[in-house]
Amino acid sequence: MSQPITDDEAWDAVIARDRAYDGRFVTGVVSTGIYCRPSCAARHPRRENVRFFADGAAATKAGLRPCLRCSPNDVSRDERAVLAAIEAIKAAGQSLALADLAARCGYSPTHFQRVFTRSTGLSPAAYARALQKERMAQALSGAGSVTDAIYDAGFSGPARFYSAAEERLGMAPSVWRNGGRGVTIRWAIVPTSLGSMLVAATDKGVCRLSFNEDEQALRTRFPNASLVQGGAVFAQLLGDVVAAVEAPGDFGHIPLDVKGTAFQEAVWQALRRIPPGETRSYAQIAAEVGKPGAVRAAGSANGANNVAVLIPCHRVIRSDGSLGGYAYGLEIKQRLLDKERHGRD
Ligand SMILES: [Zn+2]
Repeated sequence: MSQPITDDEAWDAVIARDRAYDGRFVTGVVSTGIYCRPSCAARHPRRENVRFFADGAAATKAGLRPCLRCSPNDVSRDERAVLAAIEAIKAAGQSLALADLAARCGYSPTHFQRVFTRSTGLSPAAYARALQKERMAQALSGAGSVTDAIYDAGFSGPARFYSAAEERLGMAPSVWRNGGRGVTIRWAIVPTSLGSMLVAATDKGVCRLSFNEDEQALRTRFPNASLVQGGAVFAQLLGDVVAAVEAPGDFGHIPLDVKGTAFQEAVWQALRRIPPGETRSYAQIAAEVGKPGAVRAAGSANGANNVAVLIPCHRVIRSDGSLGGYAYGLEIKQRLLDKERHGRD
């Protein structure tokens, strides 16, 4: 039987939008009078306005109404079955026999496999493998538990997290640690309306985007990688990147190959969620990643970002509305923001 859920654990689940907690408690938001399932996709409430309830009935008794977006009282039998299986796999730390997982919820193995895959995007066995892989990667980078990692990395739920982790971990963190040993980086410098732009990419995605930098700067950053200029596949990616910089908008389709600490990656994910044409303060970003006290750290994670524009650190400004800093000068930051605001009119 599962342990009672502490408020801290519940809040972590809310921040991670962890569907594994749906049906196990509801999140009451006293400022709006609504209660939600933990994974609700709506914007996160402020921590001080949140009260946790065991279920919808308890929240209703406290005068709250169910959220129309996430329908907290309609956690279906299928969802419960999937969530119970996820809990079991997590607790076991390894793959469990499909027949056993199915038997727990009284489904046939084939039906259960279909229901699970539809919900998480992975078969139960693949889910267990992804979980293990992620645990190994976390052990490598010294972060805490998988739940912490999901929360730290700012993913909206386990399924997204694991599919992203599969892609992201194509390059082992230790490879980046060794200055890119064994990695081929293709690069080019192109003129843009914002000045000379350097773009570099591995076969996984863009690993550096900067302005007014030369090959030597790239070499210093990745001293052990082999640097190759241009290339046909790279030319295509480069075209997409130039287009994204000239008409900044939604560039979520351009792959990135970056590796930071769990906290840095959470900040970078949060930056990628800011809609083009909008800005946030450092304090808002810190709150967004669930560490409202870490405003300075959010600022430096912002600055530590290797890939300008595509990780839109230019969308973060000071709380007083002034521009704050930018690695490539305030003029470029202002022009990027102007382009994005213009694009929205
Ligand atoms: Zn909701």
